[in-house]
Amino acid sequence: MKIGDLQLVKRINRSVLLRLMRSHPGASRAQLSHLSGLTKSTVSSAVRELIEEGWLEEGLQNENRETHAAQRQGQGRPSTPLMLSSKHHALAGIDLAVDGLRLAVVSVTGDMLWSEEHAFRAGKKALEPRLVLAQAAQLLGGVRDRLRERGLQLSGAGLALPGAMDIKTGMLRIAPNLGWRNVAISTLWFAALAEFGLEEMPTSIQNEADCAALGEYEFARLASTDALIFVTCDVGVGAGIVLNDRIYAGAQGLAGEIGHNILVPGGDLCSCGRRGCAETMIGARALERQCKATGDVAQAGQALGILLQNLWTAFNPGQFVMGGKSVMRYPALLKHAKETLAAYADAAGMSPPEIRLARYGFFTSAVGAAALVLHHQLRPVYADLPWVASNAQDWRLEPIAA
Ligand SMILES: [Zn+2]
Repeated sequence: MKIGDLQLVKRINRSVLLRLMRSHPGASRAQLSHLSGLTKSTVSSAVRELIEEGWLEEGLQNENRETHAAQRQGQGRPSTPLMLSSKHHALAGIDLAVDGLRLAVVSVTGDMLWSEEHAFRAGKKALEPRLVLAQAAQLLGGVRDRLRERGLQLSGAGLALPGAMDIKTGMLRIAPNLGWRNVAISTLWFAALAEFGLEEMPTSIQNEADCAALGEYEFARLASTDALIFVTCDVGVGAGIVLNDRIYAGAQGLAGEIGHNILVPGGDLCSCGRRGCAETMIGARALERQCKATGDVAQAGQALGILLQNLWTAFNPGQFVMGGKSVMRYPALLKHAKETLAAYADAAGMSPPEIRLARYGFFTSAVGAAALVLHHQLRPVYADLPWVASNAQDWRLEPIAA
């Protein structure tokens, strides 16, 4: 086996153990060995490294350790529970929203440390990619310094964009609301990070709805549900899809553009050029119009219910997570959507899928961008993406100073 292969195997083993620690907090080395199929000595040495680097910590000893030990007589020393540590590493995410930058700083288990909003420094009229990314990188430089004061390390930061990202090439194909098209976003982003001394930090970039879906998936309090679909209702309507433990972005990064599902053949003209798109009925402008005209959003709620019904039959998600300003602004929207979906489910003799609100509200995509880095780092399979790999060869960070 070549050295490169050995390093990859080591990296895979480490990521397997870290992922197991999330689904089985408190597991012992022996349990990790059993769950992963790795030998005890491999687990032992990987765990030792992960503890040295501050990713894992040993939990409190059992109160009834003596009883425990007595029961296990002859089987060596009692097992020590292990868990992910939040004492050394933190992650950040920046959501490059249409109206400014939203920043979220979280622990490796998804607890929010702080969040901020910033207007675009360059002004709304001059949204040049280079300037906006420089502002985002500068914010992260500040995060790194502030974390350091708390004895924490900025161990990765992701970027969420309101557009279609081609993850194979690192190109942003189109972000209509920013007026960006075919931007070599990964190259610009790495250059911006380097200006603030962050070139070694693992980073990733993805569409905002995909990030949001991933944040809700990676940082779920209970076991993650696969498949999970995040639906955002804002100026536009979109979805992020987590399928088979990965973001499903489609051939061109356009999967989840559900705002342009046709609900009414020959209906109202949509900004995309088609007629009868969902966005003409559920988009923020349509909601405002409808609210003024009829005093409620029942019609839009039914349209959203139809959209969810169609997604449900296409992907059969275990869970829908709902976010976006409109969902918070018009609670009746979701109520009508749920009723519509339930009626369709009932007609087919089935129970409707679970629908819940996004955990992180306004900062869902920003937290998701932080989760994206974790997601990529814990799945070395992404190393086949050259631009992700270039910045994420090995998530071996400096050991924690004693
Ligand atoms: Zn459309």
